[in-house]
Amino acid sequence: MSFSKQTIDHVDLHNKRVLIRVDFNVPLDDTCHITDDSRIRATLPTINWAIDDDAVVILCSHLGRPKGTANPALSLAPVAKRLQRLLNKPVAFTEDCIGPTAESVVKNAQPGDVILLENLRFHPGEEKNDDQFSAQLAALADVYINEAFGTAHRSHASTVGITKYVKVSAAGFLMKHEVETLEGTVENPVRPFVAILGGAKVSGKIEVIKNLTGKVDKVIIGGGMAFTFIKAMGFEIGLSLVENNMLDLAKKIHEQAIAQKIKFYLPVDCVVAASLSPEAETKIVTIQEIPPDWYGMDIGPASVRLFGEAVQNAKTILWNGPMGVFERDAFSRGTYAMAHSVANAYAYTVVGGGDTALAVHRAGESESMDFISTGGGAALQLLEGNHMPGLAALPDRPY
Ligand code: AMP
Repeated sequence: MSFSKQTIDHVDLHNKRVLIRVDFNVPLDDTCHITDDSRIRATLPTINWAIDDDAVVILCSHLGRPKGTANPALSLAPVAKRLQRLLNKPVAFTEDCIGPTAESVVKNAQPGDVILLENLRFHPGEEKNDDQFSAQLAALADVYINEAFGTAHRSHASTVGITKYVKVSAAGFLMKHEVETLEGTVENPVRPFVAILGGAKVSGKIEVIKNLTGKVDKVIIGGGMAFTFIKAMGFEIGLSLVENNMLDLAKKIHEQAIAQKIKFYLPVDCVVAASLSPEAETKIVTIQEIPPDWYGMDIGPASVRLFGEAVQNAKTILWNGPMGVFERDAFSRGTYAMAHSVANAYAYTVVGGGDTALAVHRAGESESMDFISTGGGAALQLLEGNHMPGLAALPDRPY
C-alpha cells in the first residue's frame, strides 16, 4: 500500500523554519518523570532529517488533557530534557507555544537548531481548531510537517487548521510508516490473518470488528467485550462488563463470521473475582459456570492455551485490546500470555497502540513485535477504515 500524501523528503527544508507537529504525549509518573519514551524515539528519523537539511527545527505537541489552561504538571519541559539526551544536542524550550516568547526564540535560532514549544493544549484554540490560534502557530514556520500519527484522527489547530496558513505542508516519516503498515496489514495480509481484539467494550470497537471480519481468517475475542458475546450465546455472566444494547449485534456478528467460514474464538474459561476490591477472592471457572454476583476479569488458562494454539499457524497477527484487567497483577496473566504467544508465532505481528502497547511492553515482548503503533485511538480509526482529518489536510504527493 503506497502512501498518497506529500512527505518531508519531497520538500525543501534548507534554511527554512520547519514546524513539526509531533506526538510527545508520553506517560509521566507522579514526579513528572517519563515512564516510556517510545513516542519521542519514533520521531527521531524525521527530526534528524530536518537537522541534517539545515532547517530551524520547531517541535510542537500536546501532553495530557490540560483543557485550555496552563498546568505545570503537564509541561513538556521533561520531554525537552529527554530529547536533548536522545539527539545529543541542545533543545531550546519556550514557555509558550505562540506569541512573543516563541517568536523571539525562533527568530534567533540558527539552521540545525532544535526548539520545543510548550504544550499546545494550554491554549483552548488548539482543540477548537481555532483560526486565530492556527494562524499564530503558522506564523512561526515556513514549512509544516505532520508527524503526529497519534493525533491524526483529531481536527485540531496543529493538525488541520494550520495547513490553511502555511505555504508548504507534508507528512513525516513516522506518519507515513504508521499509515502504510496499518493499512497494508489489513488490506494485503499474508494469510492466515488473525485479528485479536480485546479491551473494555464492544461499542468502542464495533466498527473495527465489522471492518476486520470481512478480511481476516480468524478472530479472537477477549477482554471485557467477550462477555457481551458470551451473554449473547445465552450464558450467565454474573456481574462482568456487558453492554446489553449490543447483545443482538454481537450475536449477529458471531453468526455472520461463522457463515463466512471465519474461525471465531471466544474465551472458554475466565478468572472471576468476588468483588472489585484488590483483596477480593478470585477463582477460575468455565464460561458455562460463571457464578452470579462475580466479575469476569481475565481470560482463564484454558483460553490462554486455546488462543495460543489458534495463533500458531498465523502468518499475520493484528492485536488490539488487552485480554483482561491487566493493570492489576491478579488479572494480567491472560494478556501477558497472549503477548508471549503473539511474539512466538512465526508471523508478521502488528500491535495497535494504547493499552495493548503498554501491556506488550510490560510483558517484555516489545522487541519481538514487528510493529507497535504509537497511536491508540488513531490506529483504531484507521482499522475501522475511517477518514483521518490530519491526513486529509495534507497535500497529495507530487508524483
Ligand atoms: P480499550 O481502551 O477498550 O482497549 O480497553 C482497555 C481496558 O479494558 C483496560 O484498561 C482493561 O483494564 C479493560 N478490560 C479488559 N478486560 C476487562 C474485563 N474483563 N472487565 C473490565 N475491564 C476490562
